[in-house]
Amino acid sequence: MNVVIPSNSEPLICKEETMRYRRFGRTGLKVSALSFGCMRLCDDQAYNTPLIARAIDLGVNYFETTRYYLGNTCQHRTAPGLAGKTAGVIVSGKDGIGPDQTAYRFRKEIERQLDILGLTHFKFYQVGWFGWNMMPHLLKRGGVLEAIRGAQNEGLIQHVGFTGHDTPEHFIRCIETGLFDSLTVPYNLLNRMYEPTIKRAGELGVGVVAMCPVAGGMLAFESDKLKAALNMDMPTTEMALRFVLSNPDVSTACSGMNRMEQLDQNVKTAREFEPGSADFGAMCEGLDRLRATLGERFCTMCRYCMPCPQGVDIPRHMEIYRNWKCFGLAGWPQSALKGIPEAQTASHCNECGQCETKCPNTLGIRAMLHELLAAV
Ligand code: SF4
Ligand code: SF4
Repeated sequence: MNVVIPSNSEPLICKEETMRYRRFGRTGLKVSALSFGCMRLCDDQAYNTPLIARAIDLGVNYFETTRYYLGNTCQHRTAPGLAGKTAGVIVSGKDGIGPDQTAYRFRKEIERQLDILGLTHFKFYQVGWFGWNMMPHLLKRGGVLEAIRGAQNEGLIQHVGFTGHDTPEHFIRCIETGLFDSLTVPYNLLNRMYEPTIKRAGELGVGVVAMCPVAGGMLAFESDKLKAALNMDMPTTEMALRFVLSNPDVSTACSGMNRMEQLDQNVKTAREFEPGSADFGAMCEGLDRLRATLGERFCTMCRYCMPCPQGVDIPRHMEIYRNWKCFGLAGWPQSALKGIPEAQTASHCNECGQCETKCPNTLGIRAMLHELLAAV
């Protein structure tokens, strides 16, 4: 049995006038419906500090961090805003796992991250970049689990979660081991890949932190198609957050925020949205219908078409095309295409057609690239 030092057992903050709270799996904790991903904090510390502090004042009680984000500065940017406010707040740390990871190094990293953040303990610590194939590195003698159990016994860690990008089936296996209290996975209107895993987590009492609820900003663009599919008439970001929180097995929607008005809007949505008023099944059916409009032939991101002799990043363009056609996000293709390095853009395509001979979905890639370029 894990020993929890009494001073680590203070209740989490609960400000029901501005925030709603949800069960965090079987931990007994009530986590804020909106949590704060600290991986998008800006370069201006004079802005980050009051932003984090305001989030706590508004009732946000979960902050996702790791030392490695933002060129190893994420926790340094987070810590000043937490100063004097850490009681009753979950600040999650994270370290990676691999064949070379040892209990000693994992333990040292826990101490290092606590030190940067100015914390006495982590209420949650994540095994990052995890997957089913990492299980031997977790369980081996002198491995990560040994460090975790030691840190738990000393009260440096209370609960353990994992994050990663393995398949939904593999993540189900991971949570079925009973070793984890939470998992953190991307989940939003456009990416519902982990829905079966989230459902299984709900059955097992494993907390779910839903990352990227607005799909890394993609859902900041308006879409009449999404409004019709979800039977909602509101800004897309608000629909996106409501959708994630409609899933009863999601504990918290973790949004990477870096602007005050973004925080205020997300807090307002999380507070105003009454989960019991939402028909999650009907929303999923609406999204399924939208997805079905793509037909049987769409890019599955297999990358068999690569490499392109002209250097075009074909899967990236196809992903943009697919989401544009399916979800009708006005203005999004233009913005997304700007994020592709110039040397990899479709403007370099010379129509050789090689990619089409390799595509298992027999997509008319050249015509699609044309259509996409014509749209911007
Ligand atoms: S048709 Fe265009 S995108 Fe496809 S392989 Fe040839 S140059 Fe690349
Ligand atoms: S081969 Fe076809 S399905 Fe696969 S990534 Fe390329 S375009 Fe997409």
